[in-house]
Amino acid sequence: MTQSYQMLIGGRWVEAAGGDHLASEDPYSGKAWAVIPRGAADDVDAAVEAADAAFTAPSWRSLPASARAALMRKVADLIPTVADGLAEVETRDNGKLLAATRGEVAALANIFHYFAGLADKIEGVIAPPEIPGVFAYACYQPLGVVAVITPWNSPLLIAAIKTANALAAGCTVVIKPSEFTSASTLEFAKLFERAGFPPGVVNVVTGLGAEVGERLVTHPKVAKIQFTGGSATGRRINALASGGLKKVVLELGGKSPNVVFDDADIDAAIRGAIVGIFSSSGQSCISGSRLLLHRSIHDRFIDRLVALTKDLRIGDPRRPETQIGPITTRPQFDRVIGFLDSARAEGAECVMGGAALDGPGQLVQPTVFTRVRNDMRIVQDEIFGPVLSVIPFEDEDEAISLANDSRYGLAAGVWTSDISRAFRMTERLEAGTVWVNTYRLLSVLLPSTGYKESGLGSENGQQNILNFMKPKTVFLNHGAQVTAPFIAT
Ligand code: NAD
Repeated sequence: MTQSYQMLIGGRWVEAAGGDHLASEDPYSGKAWAVIPRGAADDVDAAVEAADAAFTAPSWRSLPASARAALMRKVADLIPTVADGLAEVETRDNGKLLAATRGEVAALANIFHYFAGLADKIEGVIAPPEIPGVFAYACYQPLGVVAVITPWNSPLLIAAIKTANALAAGCTVVIKPSEFTSASTLEFAKLFERAGFPPGVVNVVTGLGAEVGERLVTHPKVAKIQFTGGSATGRRINALASGGLKKVVLELGGKSPNVVFDDADIDAAIRGAIVGIFSSSGQSCISGSRLLLHRSIHDRFIDRLVALTKDLRIGDPRRPETQIGPITTRPQFDRVIGFLDSARAEGAECVMGGAALDGPGQLVQPTVFTRVRNDMRIVQDEIFGPVLSVIPFEDEDEAISLANDSRYGLAAGVWTSDISRAFRMTERLEAGTVWVNTYRLLSVLLPSTGYKESGLGSENGQQNILNFMKPKTVFLNHGAQVTAPFIAT
């Protein structure tokens, strides 16, 4: 039986004004399991108006910051009561392993507690007295309505982080989840009602990027856009939003290098390389999709990596023994297969995998290519699938030159037992996040950003709260003679 979802606009659960729907497919069975409203411009307008009205209403705007924090903590406390169901919906919708979605849902409570903790610690600035009789200070005010636009690979986690950032600052939000994976965000939105948030503070409009997304980013009452998705979409959003001089934060694609030196703990590095590329079937912005190996360890490293990868169990993401699940969307599946063909056509050698699996679902074998050159498409383009390209290097300089020879700069890994080398590498790698002797760790306590075409602006960390606010400087004359107005002091 198909599950039917509605959108949340101004505290009401509604169908799209036009009455249209989109089907959401289970990537393992390949069958539609849910329908979501296919929103359009009217629905976006209604949601933004609702968010704008909520932003200025005393029930939100005049709420003390500590009370705002308390509401966010209620959401955090509600999460464990719905965690199992949320994880199951996410796995059904995007095919990520149930163990992984359970981990992501569990993290949401901490994320809401963390940002709730920032809500009542936003402080202004008081300038030392310069003009007798004038008190000068700057305070921070929330920006207004924030548009949150998310991709299909970690829809709930990404929506929750952006929403928590925005709410802590006192903004209101309109979330537009990926049309492929909207269900978890719609389920999650119910918690804001249960926690007692005023209607319209959190809204969700579902539908296509071209229809809902574009209207959202160009709506005059949207003050800021928090986007995670592909670089091409990010570029388009930035261009559209620039007309309204909106604040834009873009978390985009990656083609991250994982660099292993001959002095590394090789067993740990092999595990790190496997986790780096094959977690989430490679559908992760931070995937370590380029493995750079010191030439002296290249052959034995590949032999052992291939032997271990062959044992990975591919299949139903709901089953506890599965380690690699399906590709989330049919277009993405076709794209990954296209890269496997182009790699062979360009002369790369496939040493394992290299094909889709027979049977139900969009399953692709974990794949390793050697004999790749840095100018090949599989090395330069983000594949977003379980496909690893391996390139040997001679020394540190060559490793850096290969690693940085990319238009992306999201993340990078370094494996070495030499602490000086580790420092040199972290300094020289062009990436927003660098791991040493580990891979894939993330924390909302620290800023995250992408260098080059991997992003614009940053998210997370304590300082980021001010990116959802605008300063207001006030000069308050409490007894000074008004001086000549055109003379700056
Ligand atoms: P996508 O860019 O196709 O879509 C992302 C979102 O943007 C969706 O909600 C989509 O409907 C919307 N959208 C599409 N066109 C739009 C438009 N013209 N205007 C407004 N909105 C529009 O990305 P995807 O395929 O869903 O996700 C995969 C991409 O996301 C990969 O490139 C991946 O690297 C990236 N990603 C980045 C991070 C990060 O933190 N840097 C995290 C996860 C995913």
